[in-house]
Formats: sequence, C-alpha cells, structure tokens
Amino acid sequence: MNVVESQKVLIADDDAVNRDVLGDLLKPEYTVLLARNGVQTLERAMRHAPDLILLDVMMPDMDGYEVLRQLRADPQTAQIAVIFISGLDRPEDEANGLKMGASDYIVKPFNPTVVMARVALHLQVVRQRRMLERLANIDGLTELANRRRFDEMYALEWQRARRTGRPLSLALLDIDAFKQYNDRYGHPAGDRALRSVARVAGAAMRRPADLAARYGGEELVLLMPETEAHDARMVAAAMCEAVAQLMIAHEASSVAPVLTVSVGGATLTADSIEQQYELFESADAQLYRAKQAGRNRIAWRGDAS
Ligand code: GH3
Ligand code: MG
Ligand code: MG
Repeated sequence: MNVVESQKVLIADDDAVNRDVLGDLLKPEYTVLLARNGVQTLERAMRHAPDLILLDVMMPDMDGYEVLRQLRADPQTAQIAVIFISGLDRPEDEANGLKMGASDYIVKPFNPTVVMARVALHLQVVRQRRMLERLANIDGLTELANRRRFDEMYALEWQRARRTGRPLSLALLDIDAFKQYNDRYGHPAGDRALRSVARVAGAAMRRPADLAARYGGEELVLLMPETEAHDARMVAAAMCEAVAQLMIAHEASSVAPVLTVSVGGATLTADSIEQQYELFESADAQLYRAKQAGRNRIAWRGDAS
C-alpha cells in the first residue's frame, strides 16, 4: 500500500475560539480532531489514537496536567505525543510541563507559524519512532515478525492462555531440503523461495492475534492463541498445501519435485503443560518426527505415532 495517510492531531481546549484558530491552521495538513474538556480528550485519545495532542493546560473540571497523567498511565495512550498550549508563561510552568512528559510547551498568545513548525517537528519524531519500532520487530528478508517480536508475543500469549484456560497452539515450520535448494539454484533464488513461503505463512494467519514469525534461518513459527489443536492443525495443513501449490521447482529434493515444508505442532491447555518452554519443545519434537517420517508432512502432539 502506498497511500500515505495524514497524521492525526487532537486539539484539546475549552475555548471555542482557540479550537477554531488551531483547527483552521492544522486542517490543510492533518486530520484534525477536537475536544473541549479533559474527559473528552481522554475519550477521543482512546478511540482515535491521534499522533499528537495539542493540550490546553487550564481547563475546568480536569486540567491538562491531569489529562497527561492519565494518558501516560494507560498503555493504549501512553505513547501519544503531547504539546502543552498554555497561558501560564512563567519558566517554572514550562519546565514543569516538560518534566511531566510533554514533548513541547507553547505559550499563549501563540504565533501560528511557530505552532505549525513545532507540530511538524514533533510529528516527524513520531514517524521516526514508529519506523524504528517497525525495524526492531520485522525481519528484513521475509517481512514477517522477527524472533524478538515472536519471543515477546509468545510470553504474553502463554501467560494469557494460563490465565484464561483457553488453548494456545504453536507450529514450527521448516523448509525441506533447503540446503540442496540453495546448492542447486543459488542463494538469491533461495531467498526468493523463502520469501514466498513466508508470504504463504503470513496469509494463513486469519485472526488478529495469530502471528507468523521467522524464527531463524529457513524456520518459521506460527502462534495461534485460543485455537484448539484440531483447528490449528487444519491451518497448518492448508498452509503446507499452499506451499506445494507455489510449484517452486526443486529438482534436487528427494521429497518431491517441488519445494515442500515440514511442520511440527503442539497445543497447550492450562493444565497440560507447566512451562513456557515445554510447548515450544513439544512442537520442535513434532517437527523432528515429521522430518524423520519422510518430510512434506505435519506431526502434531497427540497424533498417534
Ligand atoms: P531438512 O529437510 O532436514 O530441513 O534439510 P535442510 O537442508 O532444509 O536443512 P539444513 O538445516 O541442513 O539446512 C538449512 C539450509 O537453509 C542451510 C542454509 O544455508 C539455508 N538458509 C537458512 N537461512 C537462509 C536464508 O535466509 N536464505 C537462504 N537462501 N538460505 C537460507
Ligand atoms: Mg530445512
Ligand atoms: Mg532448519
């Protein structure tokens, strides 16, 4: 997708004139949202996830400081950049606002050109932070989640599964005879094949909480929260089939004339596995079984051996 969405700015001010002036100023460049008190600011921040909030300090009911404190206390809004706009012009007011975690502090009456320049600057910082987060979590070759992201999500989902008693399924996928593929067709072709397999794995993930990640080398991992063994196995089977359907010729493989994968899977229910590593080790043991049994197949914990 190449559509560049405009960034969202929430203007929070109890004074209608200020809201209008700031709104008119920012509308040509950004998607503008308005709030006229603290409660509305928190509600809009939660609902619309703006990139930046221009926050009036003095508002009745709840002042800007309290709004900022509550934004920071909620993980869903904690990262939103905030610029205070305030009639309080003493240096200690400004220092205090910045100490509380605001990105900037603008004194009223404000100069429109300066407001625009500061908003643009802080939105650029927001874009750069997002890009760094993305780079830290995405594998460069396959564009799937990377190992680091997987480890993070696995720990979270494992805890959730233990808490809720809902099943957690995990599958490890390894390309068959990939060394021979590289030897036969060259490393760049190997990279392309790996990317194609990764795309298939990514597309097989249907629910928002499902995650396909590159675990390492030519090994991918699929994490499927709240998914019973039977359903997870179906997903894995459809994915193996889809990989074979790519019809990537592999003349050096003793398994099939096309590139294939082997999958090992396991499903945890709260009482069946005690430790986080056990689910992963089970899936790994099943992958070994699938390889031993001839490759191009799935083995799932609980299947008859
Ligand atoms: P098996 O069927 O037992 O899985 O055999 P295999 O040859 O696939 O397994 P092995 O672990 O012996 O070799 C894995 C190969 O995958 C060797 C390595 O060069 C290749 N590989 C790992 N990561 C990449 C990559 O990013 N790009 C390419 N082109 N090859 C990779
Ligand atoms: Mg392999
Ligand atoms: Mg391997």
